[in-house]
Amino acid sequence: MILSKGFWQTYKEVPTDATIASHQLMMRAGLIHKSAAGLYNYLPMGYRSIRKVEQIVREEMDKAGCYEMLMSVVTPGELWQETGRWEKMGGEMLKFKDKADRDLCISPTNEEAITDVFRKTIKSYKDLPLSLYQINTKFRDEIRPRFGLMRGREFIMKDAYTFHATKECLDEVYDRMYEAYENVFNRLGLEFSAVVADGGAMADGDAKTHEFQVIADSGEDAIIYSNEANYAANIETAKTIRKVESAAKTGSMAEVSTPGKATIKEVCEFLKKNEFHSLKSLVYKARNDEEEKFILVLLLGDDELNELKLEKVYPGYEVTTATDTELKALGLIKGFIGPVEISNLDIVFDTQVDLNAAYVVGANKLDMHLENFVPKEVIKQIKTADLRLACSGDYTVDGKHQVELKRGIEVGHIFQLGDKYTKGMDATILDQNGKAMAPLMGCYGIGVTRLVAAAIEQNHDENGIIWPAAIAPYNVSFVAIVKSEEYKEKANELYKTLINSGLEVVYDDRKAGPGFKFKDADLLGLPLQVVLGERDHKEDGMLEIRIRRSGEKIKVSHEDLISKVNELLKEL
Ligand code: ATP
Ligand code: MG
Repeated sequence: MILSKGFWQTYKEVPTDATIASHQLMMRAGLIHKSAAGLYNYLPMGYRSIRKVEQIVREEMDKAGCYEMLMSVVTPGELWQETGRWEKMGGEMLKFKDKADRDLCISPTNEEAITDVFRKTIKSYKDLPLSLYQINTKFRDEIRPRFGLMRGREFIMKDAYTFHATKECLDEVYDRMYEAYENVFNRLGLEFSAVVADGGAMADGDAKTHEFQVIADSGEDAIIYSNEANYAANIETAKTIRKVESAAKTGSMAEVSTPGKATIKEVCEFLKKNEFHSLKSLVYKARNDEEEKFILVLLLGDDELNELKLEKVYPGYEVTTATDTELKALGLIKGFIGPVEISNLDIVFDTQVDLNAAYVVGANKLDMHLENFVPKEVIKQIKTADLRLACSGDYTVDGKHQVELKRGIEVGHIFQLGDKYTKGMDATILDQNGKAMAPLMGCYGIGVTRLVAAAIEQNHDENGIIWPAAIAPYNVSFVAIVKSEEYKEKANELYKTLINSGLEVVYDDRKAGPGFKFKDADLLGLPLQVVLGERDHKEDGMLEIRIRRSGEKIKVSHEDLISKVNELLKEL
């Protein structure tokens, strides 16, 4: 791109809604324009990066034996009705009607659409496994679109879907896709982590699912990990333990007055107890079409509940916190709730609670707590489940390694779906014995546009973007600091030499000072800057290469320029 004639502009102002570095830099470096909340135009400079990401993803998918196709962005409501997701997907799905009054939506994902393609083509187990993918626009009417391309409403996703006659085959292809994902993120030059993810309430027990997380402080996801144990899991699903000493009974269970002390902290300070020697009582409501019931959750006083884990204990139910009105109706007093002498509530203890130890709990009376409550002695049928939110400092379940927490950006998600969609949509094939069966499916997403943002989040400094070479919009910023006609001509010649050697070059031939040009070049952050400075060149006849990431400057002759640039690009 020759800047005097090209289409590129940088911006000094940071838009007020841009709160993280990648969003600010993508706007300032003229990669994208916002058209409305969560909607962006990909400008030439930004779109080049997006296409490079797409190409890397495409190559790795092809290598993994996936065939590329392109599905319609608008999908008919009928397909979604077959699986019940027309209603279940909720507000994220943008629905509308055509002029014949038929339901349509803009694809937020494509399981139904691909299963429809499958059932119209594949009839026998002999044609399996089958792997298909597309790189396409998605629309999700996100509640809070933010962070630019990181969480847009319209975005580009690579979504792949695989079909299998057996679980072994699904596992095998899943592992191959996992490897393909590692290849993609390695080629992009990103620091990432593959973490065990949450399969949702619908997932089979042995259904594998992993998220690929780009490590960044601004990430919306929390990852619990231990390098020594080779363990990494999204906090949503992480299972860890703590090592705390339980308290022994000091007397029989008895009420103690705790006037005005309604929080765990206040009660434990008042009674001079460790918070983990008290139990936190939380009341939840579980509801499905048939019934509504209330649950009392008991955790160590200083633990937090992981609501997703509670949902798994009640599959098929919608689980929400009980409202103040509901608590009142149950005869419970906020701040003083406990497990003793209550009826009509399911009681679930977190596995971290020592059922033989003594705890302080609410007495279900205003300003009163109970001391020396021992679960096993009081509760007849005890139900336990892993419910606590993992946190930094916990131990792996074998108790051997301590875990830490880091933040990540989910850039990919792979998932074993089982036969939910094939069954739901009557997509059967004939198996080896000539019997009809619903094939198993896997689905595999990569957020292409989110990846560009994540790459910048991980690779920038105070002056701007520092592109990983594989996805930089161009390879080189050619900065000409020239005044005379003779040198302007030299610069034009040099630009030709650069592009004729196959390099992708942004040629800054604008009428502007060196300070202005270098600022823009740093902000854009291409891996290398090649500088022709008239004054210096007149003295030594040399050019300069600047490495954006390290700031290193290298003098180079005209003859050596191309080979040196290529050598440096390879290293980067
Ligand atoms: P999130 O938890 O971030 O909302 P998700 O789990 O809903 O994402 P998936 O359905 O797994 O997303 O979609 C596959 C990939 O698409 C994600 O891993 C992510 O990289 C990307 N993606 C999802 N939602 C968005 C969005 N609103 N903007 C940009 N990329 C997105
Ligand atoms: Mg996901």
